[in-house]
Amino acid sequence: MKIKILPASVIDKIAAGEVLQRPASAVKELVENSIDADAKRIEISFEAGGKTITVSDDGSGMSEEEVKLAVKRHATSKIATDEDIDKIKTMGFRGEALASIAAVSRFSLKTKREGYEAIELKLSGGKSAQLLPAARARGTTVTIKDIFYNTPARKKFLKTDATERKHIIRSVELAALSHPEISFSLKEKGNILFDLPPDSLKERTGNIIGKNLSRKLLGIEFKNPYIQLSGYISPPEVSFLNKNRIYFFVNRRPVFSPLLMHATGRGYLQFIPPNKNPACVININIKPEFVDVNVHPAKKEVRFVNQQGVHQILSKVITSKLQDVPGVFEVEEAPAKKKKSRPKPSYSKNSGSMPSQNRIAEPRQKYIDSIDLSRARKFTFTPPSTPENKDSSHDDKDKIIPFFQWKNKYVVGHDSKGIVIIDQHTAWERINYEKLKKEASSRKAAAQGLLIPEVVEYERSRAGILSRHAGVLAQYGLIIEDFGPGAFKITAVPASTAKTLRGEEAADMVESIISLIEKTGKGPLKEELMDEILKLIACRSSIMAGDSLSMDEMRKMTANLN
Ligand code: ADP
Ligand code: MG
Repeated sequence: MKIKILPASVIDKIAAGEVLQRPASAVKELVENSIDADAKRIEISFEAGGKTITVSDDGSGMSEEEVKLAVKRHATSKIATDEDIDKIKTMGFRGEALASIAAVSRFSLKTKREGYEAIELKLSGGKSAQLLPAARARGTTVTIKDIFYNTPARKKFLKTDATERKHIIRSVELAALSHPEISFSLKEKGNILFDLPPDSLKERTGNIIGKNLSRKLLGIEFKNPYIQLSGYISPPEVSFLNKNRIYFFVNRRPVFSPLLMHATGRGYLQFIPPNKNPACVININIKPEFVDVNVHPAKKEVRFVNQQGVHQILSKVITSKLQDVPGVFEVEEAPAKKKKSRPKPSYSKNSGSMPSQNRIAEPRQKYIDSIDLSRARKFTFTPPSTPENKDSSHDDKDKIIPFFQWKNKYVVGHDSKGIVIIDQHTAWERINYEKLKKEASSRKAAAQGLLIPEVVEYERSRAGILSRHAGVLAQYGLIIEDFGPGAFKITAVPASTAKTLRGEEAADMVESIISLIEKTGKGPLKEELMDEILKLIACRSSIMAGDSLSMDEMRKMTANLN
C-alpha cells in the first residue's frame, strides 16, 4: 500500500475532532481566546443548539498579519519554546482551536487591534479565504455557522438542541465562574440568559448558582508553598441529587477531575447523606510545574505531580470547614469557655428529616431553661386530614408575634399563652402544603413563569411518566411543556409558596417527582401519591433551615400560621 502524507485539510478535520466534540467546545475555545486577549467584557450568543455561535470581546484584537497566522494550525502567540509548555499561564497554548473551528464551519473573524485597520477574515470549511475591510472598535468577534456541516459523522453524534444548549450554557458558566472580574453576557436567539457585571467570586457564584444558595456558602482558604486552595462550599444542611453545582478550577482553568471529585466526596463523607452532593466552587492554584494541563486535547483534565497530596489537602480542608459549622442545636457559648466538642451535622442526628421543634430542649437544656418549653407550640408537619381539625389549635385572638430568629432555623415568638418556638422549614412546609392543596382543589394554582425556562431530558420511560402526568402537576402551578423527543421545558413554578424556585431547583424537584411516581407503577395517580407529590413540592418550595429571615419575613410566616 502506498503511504501518503495527509493533505492539510484532512489533518485539520482530524484535529478538529479532538478539540471540538460539540458546539459547546467551540464556545469554550473562543471564550478562552477572549480571556487570553485580556477582554474586560465577553458577549456570547447562539442559536439552534449552537449551530450558530458568536463570541465577541473587547480584548487586544489582531493585526492583519496576526489574523492570517491565527487560523493556521499550531499557530499561537502564547508559547514559543518547549520549556514554555511546562509553565503555561494562558488558557490556550496549542494553537489549534481557530484552525479546527474554521475547518468544520462557515467561519468569520472580525478584529481590530489598536493602531491597525479593522479586518474580517472569512473561511468556509477552512478554505476559500477572503480578507475584507471591516468596521469595529478594538477587539474580536468570531461567528461560526453550520458547525460540522462538512463532517457528517460528527454531526450525527450531536444530541438534541436542548442538550447542546445545556452544554453551551455550562461552558459559559464555567468561564464566568473562573473569571469573575470579566463581564459576561449570554444570549440565545436574542434573549438574554444572563448579563453579569465584573464581580467578586462570591457575587459571581451567587449569579451563577443562585443567590439563596450562595448566601449560605462557606469560604475555604488554604495555602502552602506549592498549592493554594480557595473557594466556597455548601454547608451540611444543603445538598443536591446531582453533581451540577460542583465546579473545579485549576489555575483558573475549569477541569473535570475524578480525583478532585473523589476528594470532595471524602471531605463531605460524614456531613451529607451518601446519595447526595454538595455545591462548591473550588479554585486550586498550583505552580505550573506541579501540574500537567496537556493531558487532554480540550485541556479539560489535569494531572498533578502529587495526586495523593492534592487529594488529601482538598478533603481535609473541606472536612475541617464543615466541622466548624455550628450545629442546629448549638447555642452561643459564654466567651470564657472554648468550644470542646465538634457539633454533628443536623442530618446525622435524625437521618435527614428536619429537626422538629420539640427536639430543641434535649441536648442543650441548660441554655434554654429560662424558656418555658412546655408552652411551646408544636408545628410539626402533620397535614390536617379533615377540615374540622384544621386550625382548631388556635383561635383569632391567639396570634403569634415573632421576636427573633434563632440559629437561622427557628423563629422565636410569643402568643397570649407564652413563648412559642417554630421550626421555620416545617412551618413553611405546612403553610405551602395547605395553600397548594386549596389551590389545586379549586383549580386556580398561581404559577410564576421562569425567566429562563429550564430544559430537562429523560430517557424514554421517565419521559413517558412526565408526559402522562404533566397535567396533574399543572394543577399545582408547575408547568411543564413538551420540548422535542424526551425533552421538556419547565416554564413556570408554583407562585403562592414561600419560595419561588429557580430553574435548576425546579428540575431537581421534577426529577424527584418522577422518581416518586416511578416507584408506584403505572396507571393514574392515586390520592396518596398525589399527596406525596404535594408534600414534596411544599417542602422544596419552603424557606430552608439556614435561611436567614427578616422581621417582615418572620411576620409573614406567623401571619400564615395565625
Ligand atoms: P491558542 O489559543 O492555543 O494560541 P488558537 O487557535 O485558539 O490557539 O488561537 C491562535 C492565536 O490567535 C492565539 O494565540 C492568539 O494570538 C490569536 N487569537 C485568537 N483569538 C483571539 C482573540 N479573541 N483576540 C486576540 N487574539 C486572538
Ligand atoms: Mg485558544
